[in-house]
Amino acid sequence: VYEWLYKGAESFSEMTNLSKDLREKLDELCHISVLKILEKQISVDGTIKYLWELEDGETVESVLMDYKHGYPICISTQVGCNMGCKFCASTVGGKIRNLTSGEIADQIIFASRDSGRTISNVVLMGIGEPLDNYENVTKFIKNINHYAGLNIGARHISLSTCGLVDKIKQLASEGLPLTLSVSLHATNNEVRNSLMPVNRKYNIEELLGACRYYIEKTNRRVTFEYALINEVNDFPKHAENLLKLVKGMLCHVNLIPVNNVNTNNFERSTKERIQKFRDVLEQGGITTTVRRQLGSDIDASCGQLRRKHQDNKK
Ligand code: SAH
Repeated sequence: VYEWLYKGAESFSEMTNLSKDLREKLDELCHISVLKILEKQISVDGTIKYLWELEDGETVESVLMDYKHGYPICISTQVGCNMGCKFCASTVGGKIRNLTSGEIADQIIFASRDSGRTISNVVLMGIGEPLDNYENVTKFIKNINHYAGLNIGARHISLSTCGLVDKIKQLASEGLPLTLSVSLHATNNEVRNSLMPVNRKYNIEELLGACRYYIEKTNRRVTFEYALINEVNDFPKHAENLLKLVKGMLCHVNLIPVNNVNTNNFERSTKERIQKFRDVLEQGGITTTVRRQLGSDIDASCGQLRRKHQDNKK
């Protein structure tokens, strides 16, 4: 049954190597959740974006990428989000509900079945705050690891959080060798407070303390995500501060030129400012990458497709 479910079976009658009696019994007792494709967009660069309809009519999105070395997928963990980050489209309208561990896995199963691609890596960076749905997300990670299912190990999973400090500490003890990505986006509490309300609960010092704890417990390299917003958090002095904050930590910085979403007027940093920011970090000995933009022709970022769908419904 497990194998069939992870192959994307939508009913027990498809499970033809089970006896008819058993299939009928299962049909009586259980229900298989399925995702419907509401919209599918294919970018010129091979990126595929899915807008799924869940069984209660809510929607979430996933982005299946096309890299030289495999097919990573970015999936959602909640319908909407309560974190309120000012630059993010997913949080407009708040959180409707958590996804179940099955619904999180379904995004991989159905994207894989529809595209014919075998998914190599999973990033929990779609709609929602994964650590605000802790139980279902950790259950999901353990489930997809099974050899009879998707067989995707924690090493091939990145989990991104806006910084729920107590949950980061809890995650450190799960024994899951995943990659923790932390959305930092600012180097002082004043700027971070203005961008990310979560910083009023857990400030930068507490957050970095939790990251140090995570590294010490797991010996895994942490990624810091830093969305570059023109003339807000992208001054050379910010890069120098960032350097001081993460000095000595087993980490990597991923710079994300911010995507403009309709609800705000944040502009992405210019190429020159991005390069300067990166140079300061690299000269300070921090490995730094700048996120490549994939699928920009198809709204493939940060809850934009669901948002558009919601707006059209109004
Ligand atoms: N809630 C989690 C994961 C979802 S968002 C988190 O906050 O980490 C995944 C990443 O995209 C986060 O780093 C988030 O801050 C970033 N992001 C959100 N909106 C963005 C935008 N408009 N432009 C660039 N990055 C954005």
